[in-house]
Amino acid sequence: MSILAELRAIVGDGHVVGDPDVRASYEHDITGRFAGSALAVVRPGSVDEVAAVVGACARLNQRLVVRGGGTGLVGGAVPLAADELVLSLERLTDVADSSDGGDLIAQAGATLEQLHRAATARGAMFALDFAARGAATVGGMLATNAAGALALRYGPMRAQLAGIEVVLASGERVERMSGLKDTAGYDWPRLLVGSEGTLGVITRARLKLRPPPGPRAVALVGLDAIEDGVRLVRDLQRPAAGAVEAIDVFDARSMELVCMRRRLTPPVAAHPWYVVVQVAADDPTGVLAQALGDRDVAVAEDTARREALWEYRDAINEAIGAAGVPHKFDVSVALAQIASLLSAVRGELSSGAELITFGHLGDGNLHLNVLGLEPEGGRIDALILERVAAHGGSISAEHGIGVAKREFLHLTRSSQDIRVMRALKAALDPDDLLGRGRVLP
Ligand SMILES: Cc1cc2nc3c(=O)[nH]c(=O)nc-3n(C[C@H](O)[C@H](O)[C@H](O)COP(=O)(O)OP(=O)(O)OC[C@H]3O[C@@H](n4cnc5c(N)ncnc54)[C@H](O)[C@@H]3O)c2cc1C
Repeated sequence: MSILAELRAIVGDGHVVGDPDVRASYEHDITGRFAGSALAVVRPGSVDEVAAVVGACARLNQRLVVRGGGTGLVGGAVPLAADELVLSLERLTDVADSSDGGDLIAQAGATLEQLHRAATARGAMFALDFAARGAATVGGMLATNAAGALALRYGPMRAQLAGIEVVLASGERVERMSGLKDTAGYDWPRLLVGSEGTLGVITRARLKLRPPPGPRAVALVGLDAIEDGVRLVRDLQRPAAGAVEAIDVFDARSMELVCMRRRLTPPVAAHPWYVVVQVAADDPTGVLAQALGDRDVAVAEDTARREALWEYRDAINEAIGAAGVPHKFDVSVALAQIASLLSAVRGELSSGAELITFGHLGDGNLHLNVLGLEPEGGRIDALILERVAAHGGSISAEHGIGVAKREFLHLTRSSQDIRVMRALKAALDPDDLLGRGRVLP
């Protein structure tokens, strides 16, 4: 039997998609920079079906790429070759309570927004958030170790994980879902976090809930230089230590593009830079007033006004996407290096190219977006990432390596480190069927 016939027998005819028009939405990324075409898209409806699909692929030596919400920014979930199959987890969307009620048990295709709704319904908080919340999935967020603004306080997706279920490249199913304090053997579940679909297919996860934070307030602050932002991060650590949940940053061009795209008016006077600070404390506005001094600031306490201030930050990816196809660099450096890195990157840009910067300033995580380049951009990717490495930074703070940065992995990882990764890949996926051509150079 052919692979497609086998897959139809497992998931049903309607869930093996060969029609190019339907397939098209699975064959590109959200930035428009990465696109391909696939053999077919297969959409299993249960974990048993995922295991059967992957098992059939293993028997027939069929390569596949795993796809969640398709919101990744490094091309990791885009098919690379016409003989590659897209395995979509979109039908696995259940979210339930753990038996002790303390955690959520979520299938891989459940979205971040579903986790927030489930947490709120239980009087709790799921402590991860970012603008793609309506589409980004549990599987994709674990596979990229997604972070977002709240990671400054609560850590990235890895910190929310209490258990995992995985289908291995062989089609075998393996799980550690008890949530117990447990050090018996290797902690392989966390190895799957950040594996970008190359070590196994995540099918279910046990995710931690936290008590809701105290009253929250958000401030959007106008600043005259990025150095003021770095000073502000330090200033906030003192009076507001323990209260700060997020410190994000964006530049004047981001503000301009968002205001055009969403028809908004800036909430403070025009400045070269803006910082969004969120605190949770008994007296959140008092904490902000003490830390922000006489800076130009708009403050919000109730949920609707807080969300309105976050919109200036959350809509940036969308607004940049509407302006062109960006080259995106998700990097991290020590706070003390940020100003120097930005001026070095600007120095590499040809005339006609435009740098737009935003990110999670508290974590030293900048999203550098360059518009106005040719699709391949010549050597600019290498030049910028080499500058990041020269500043002691990482070429991937939270989006992963995917296809976009695999040839640059050596800038951040030693050859011994890459050898360890290759050994892990060979042990878990000896025939290189999962996510071939991603992550590893
Ligand atoms: C507007 C916007 C804002 C964003 N903000 C942030 C942010 O603040 N922080 C952040 O970290 N990211 C951010 N992202 C990036 C993106 O949303 C995250 O990388 C997210 O985790 C991807 O989830 P997904 O379900 O869309 O995964 P996909 O894009 O479908 O896949 C991403 C990677 O995960 C793998 N994968 C997917 N599902 C599975 C699975 N079940 N098992 C194994 N591997 C799997 C894929 O093969 C691929 O390599 C943003 C994206 C957008 C569009």
